[in-house]
Amino acid sequence: MPDETTKPPVGRFAPSPTGALHTGSLATAVASWLMARSAGGRWLLRIDDLDVPRQVPGMADDIMETLELFGLYWDGEISWQSSNREAYQHYFSELLATGLVYPCGCSRREIAQAASAPHPDDDCLPYPGTCRDGMREGATVRSWRLRVPPEQVCFHDLHKGMICQHLGERCGDFAVRRGDGEIAYQLAVVVDDHLTGVTQVVRGEDLLPSTPRQVYIQGLLGLESPAYCHIPLVTGPGGAKLSKRDNLVSHHLGSWRGKEGTLLLGVLRFLGQEPPRDLVGAPCDEILRWAAGCFDITRLPVAGGELVVSPGS
Ligand code: GLU
Repeated sequence: MPDETTKPPVGRFAPSPTGALHTGSLATAVASWLMARSAGGRWLLRIDDLDVPRQVPGMADDIMETLELFGLYWDGEISWQSSNREAYQHYFSELLATGLVYPCGCSRREIAQAASAPHPDDDCLPYPGTCRDGMREGATVRSWRLRVPPEQVCFHDLHKGMICQHLGERCGDFAVRRGDGEIAYQLAVVVDDHLTGVTQVVRGEDLLPSTPRQVYIQGLLGLESPAYCHIPLVTGPGGAKLSKRDNLVSHHLGSWRGKEGTLLLGVLRFLGQEPPRDLVGAPCDEILRWAAGCFDITRLPVAGGELVVSPGS
């Protein structure tokens, strides 16, 4: 665990440029900004642009503009995953050297068919270990998998408390590199956070299930794990998954223009903070200054929910 008592944290926000920020990702950005700034720390911006086919041109700029509009300024240069490929290969070689990584020739469909139980969600298909002792003859390498340990992997989440997961039951040996050489998210994110000296990762709880895999990789590579804090998600009405299309912040800038503070106050209320009434109508930097001055992690919501706010309020 990083020594939070002596050093101010280095936090980060790491959006993928696959779409504009929606109210949910804005809430995550605000939460990570507040966690870092309220402790006198730095806040970095990284664009997770490895997954080229899913990217939408112009979205990285759109995200940056939206962050700036809300006064969420980052420190230093923006980092781009696509510039880190050499480092990824270096750490992939380190993992190879542990003897725990092996090539796998299974397709996604084969893995899905072999799964004995329905998988809990889309974050991973439980891999049955088909190629653990070698690929079938003539098969092409589709991924490089990391053997998971027989025991649970645990970490302490600043909001959720102790989280333990048996990786074998959850996802089995998981991919750290694709057959075409592209590094998988689980390894990339570990390397990125290490390279930029990130000590505090605040993100949506949809990523909570993949964190034990990252903690496991950090242990194998001898890297210190950052402190983690997973935030409940903003949902649509009745707890439905947020419809990204309906909640894109920048698409509504016409109607929000000049009222960004109203949305920001809604985000703070969603995060359990209680902005005083006299901040209504205040500019974002003033609201953020107030919020950083009295941010209280114990007030974060236990469960997700709607972020209710309207430009007219
Ligand atoms: N880029 C990821 C996403 O947008 C987040 C990565 C992370 O926070 O670790 O879902």
